[in-house]
Amino acid sequence: MQTHILGYPRIGSNRELKKACEQYWTGKTDVNTLLETGRTIKENNWKLQHEAGIDLIPCNDFSYYDQVLDMTLTVGAIPQRYQEIASQKHELDLYFAMARGFQKEGLDITAMEMTKWFDTNYHYIVPEFRKDQEFSLFSDKIIKEFISAKEAGIQAKPVIIGLVTYLLLGKEKEEGFDRLDLANKLLPVYFEILKGLENHGAEYIQFDEPFLALDLSDKAKETYRLIYAEIRKQFPNLKFILATYFEGLQNNLSLASSLPVDVLHIDLVRCPEQLDEVLQTIPETLSLSLGIVDGRNIWKNDFEKSLKFIAKAVHKIGSGRVFIASSCSLLHVPADLDAEKNEEALSGEIKQWMAFAKQKVQEIVILQKLASENPDYNTLQQLAENKKAIENRNTSALIHHPEVKDRVDVTTEEDAKRSSSFQARKKSQQDILQLPLFPTTTIGSFPQTKEVRAWRSKFKKGELSAAQYDALLKEETERTIRWQEEIGIDVLVHGEFERNDMVEYFGEQLAGFAFTQNGWVQSYGSRCVKPPVIYGDVHRPAPMTVYWSEYAQSLTSKWVKGMLTGPVTILQWSFVRDDQPRSLTCKQIALAIRDEVTDLEKAGIRIIQIDEPAIREGLPLRTSEWQNYLKWAVEAFRISASGVEDATQIHTHMCYSEFNDIIQNIADMDADVITIECSRSQMELLNAFADFKYPNEIGPGVYDIHSPRVPSKEEMVELLKKAQAVIPAKQLWVNPDCGLKTRHWEETEKALIAMVAASKEMSEVFAV
Ligand code: GLN
Ligand code: ZN
Repeated sequence: MQTHILGYPRIGSNRELKKACEQYWTGKTDVNTLLETGRTIKENNWKLQHEAGIDLIPCNDFSYYDQVLDMTLTVGAIPQRYQEIASQKHELDLYFAMARGFQKEGLDITAMEMTKWFDTNYHYIVPEFRKDQEFSLFSDKIIKEFISAKEAGIQAKPVIIGLVTYLLLGKEKEEGFDRLDLANKLLPVYFEILKGLENHGAEYIQFDEPFLALDLSDKAKETYRLIYAEIRKQFPNLKFILATYFEGLQNNLSLASSLPVDVLHIDLVRCPEQLDEVLQTIPETLSLSLGIVDGRNIWKNDFEKSLKFIAKAVHKIGSGRVFIASSCSLLHVPADLDAEKNEEALSGEIKQWMAFAKQKVQEIVILQKLASENPDYNTLQQLAENKKAIENRNTSALIHHPEVKDRVDVTTEEDAKRSSSFQARKKSQQDILQLPLFPTTTIGSFPQTKEVRAWRSKFKKGELSAAQYDALLKEETERTIRWQEEIGIDVLVHGEFERNDMVEYFGEQLAGFAFTQNGWVQSYGSRCVKPPVIYGDVHRPAPMTVYWSEYAQSLTSKWVKGMLTGPVTILQWSFVRDDQPRSLTCKQIALAIRDEVTDLEKAGIRIIQIDEPAIREGLPLRTSEWQNYLKWAVEAFRISASGVEDATQIHTHMCYSEFNDIIQNIADMDADVITIECSRSQMELLNAFADFKYPNEIGPGVYDIHSPRVPSKEEMVELLKKAQAVIPAKQLWVNPDCGLKTRHWEETEKALIAMVAASKEMSEVFAV
């Protein structure tokens, strides 16, 4: 039985890569310093795995920005607009230009597009393909990494994005061809890479083909067959591991197990049910890699459970054909749990349930030992400790709150319904709110200036007292309220100055959440996130936002909108429990948010927004599972929103994605008003409304807050006219397309003044 992992985190255990990249980008250090940091990280990772006793240690899992971009550079798929840089600059500068754009030395070249890596929060750089696309071996990074591993004493397993997956990850940049048609042109470059690796003594090669676990077209299936047959023919002696993850193979199982490779890797965390069927069908020539240690979450592996899987596989195909592995690359978990030393943020009891990348590597090796004939005393001791930790987690009073479970049990469909229809609610709301046509509002946050952030950090360090911090925030809030009154916004917000992050702020106040000090995970390039950990039953011990909303409302006779993050988004952007379904955790969060909503109402807040920007990104990878997810996600939102009277107006907000294909589900959320991002696509979203009559009110974002550019009134009027062509005027709101947190006051002021003017112009036209 052999062990391996599919990849290791590459940002360094203290985000060394982030810091080194950012210093290099700003010209503070030279390329050699950056390369040196990269080398140290790689060597540390190899060493750590080697010492732990991993058999097949990956190389080329390291990347300075993104592994898909690495492949793009390797195969020379460099878009035309970078030609000038390609011919003049260091390879790494070309690489970063493709990732981040290049605006200097008289050049202004846009970056390549970035999008989410399957259903993770990691983002990759999307390959761009043309009809006459050529490929050639441009970068020898893969070979170089193999050689440096060898120099470090490691016979590494190069990790390469499989050819079909690489093509499918990309986009056709012109009409009239299918990117899969490029397979034959790309294949010779793969041959060259493999030849180079073979010449340098490589034995195992890992091809990442996660698309094999997704819905595939017939053409994609055919391409898989052709390509892998060719690769096998050219390289009869290399050992190929075909890595699938993030889903089960399902209807692609016969395809995957018929490909002429040596090892098939399956994700048994995401899809444990597939093991039996895979074992039934696997041909004798194929070994099986069991992805049993979760690469997507931070929980300790349950050894007893894993050993059952291993035993089943060994029984059926023999230990010589079984590999023990992480479910996917460990890229998606933080580096090292040992670095968590703050007992207050993460208590010892919770910590003992967890494992980060380093610990997961150890778990894989322990499992291998436990599954062998004669595990030694030490290993058995580790099994006993593991069992104890798992048992403790199953029963811990920190996790299990009977009142929360009871409340979930008695929650009914009625709780997920407002008492009246939208038409009836609208009337009660209008009686009280008295809003004009084309009412203006914003999405919640106002600029988080350097000062605001400095106050928070001083407060956290104890350099500002709670009273001082509170007074500063109040001043900032009051200024923001006054300013909104002055320029004539209809529905005001308090500005969210007290919040660090829209999930963390709530997580910190809800029971069942823990926080790490150093639990960073790469989101894209040098950007890392530190997701909260939902470890237990979630409830709300005390009101979370009432203080600020009530304060803001007390300052003005206009309506102030209360501002909350919705249950699906909180779930989506956290590490979640794996001991109960996501849907159940989501329902618990929904009930906690519901409590907050009703408390806001009691405090006199008549308009409450529940943000759900992440609702679409929770969609399962297989379309057959969409409806199930959407059902519970929409229900969770509705539970959070439905505890109020008819006259209280519920808003929601969404951004970051296209919504056309789930428009019916968005309507099912039954928010009185939805504000939604769509200015970047010039209101492409509105196409959906041409056929679909959206029943409630809607504020299609009229300007892009992701750019410092100030839009003109005329532009916004144009967008509103486009909106009005498909949505009746009386249903429309006027707002930017997301929160203003990342903007400066200067551009915010100009943009919002123009926005109010645009609304005025629209309402004048419609008044006559
Ligand atoms: N209310 C949040 C804000 O304005 C919404 C942020 C978001 O949608 N990402 O910052
Ligand atoms: Zn947003």
